[in-house]
Amino acid sequence: MRYALISDIHGNLEALQAVLDALSKEKVGGYLCIGDVVGYGADPKECIRLVRSLDPEALIAGNHEWGVLGLLSIEYFNEYAAEAILWTKGVLNKDELDYLRSFKLVHEENPLTLVHGTLEEPAEFYYLFGADEASITMNLMKTPVCFVGHTHVAGIFYLHDDEVQYTQNPARKIHPDKRYVVNPGSIGQPRDRDPRASFAVYDTESGSLDIKRVPYDIKLAQSKILKAGLPPVLAHRLAEGR
Ligand code: ZN
Repeated sequence: MRYALISDIHGNLEALQAVLDALSKEKVGGYLCIGDVVGYGADPKECIRLVRSLDPEALIAGNHEWGVLGLLSIEYFNEYAAEAILWTKGVLNKDELDYLRSFKLVHEENPLTLVHGTLEEPAEFYYLFGADEASITMNLMKTPVCFVGHTHVAGIFYLHDDEVQYTQNPARKIHPDKRYVVNPGSIGQPRDRDPRASFAVYDTESGSLDIKRVPYDIKLAQSKILKAGLPPVLAHRLAEGR
């Protein structure tokens, strides 16, 4: 199966549309969503509608879903994120909230696992930034590859001679007898200094994994954030990819 991995959309409709346009040429057979469909951006409702239309095989809950649903304390979030969560909560209807409530913390089905933060206490939403955190998750994995989101930094951790290595090289062959932790990057708010929307395509048969970037209309997404009265920093950061 050829899967599209989508993560950290964050209510950015322009970025999500650009990614789905790019994916329409990729012949993917299924979608896997790693969480944070909402939060920060001005179009949570449209993003939920679009994700729903994809009928993903797995939907993972991010900290923003849990924040909006009241399952994670608002104190977990910085002031801008907290403001965006309260704004998002105010615009979603019951049906949309019920949809977010259906998202799971972990999905595991050979050859892949999905979790928003780390496999170590998924409900705590720890950040997987470095080799130490990657190693803990690798030890808990029962499949060759685990896809994570949350940091908004695209990259691949892999084991080489029992050492965890890291690469931001966008292409990798996944070997079934090895271990990988892959972050496909963020669609709606990249933080790795590349403002383009980030996603991944993984072919479970050939093992090929590709992290891809596409440009989108950042100015339009920014103007909607400002118009909605969300914190301006959430608009400005999109242009810098951080
Ligand atoms: Zn996020």
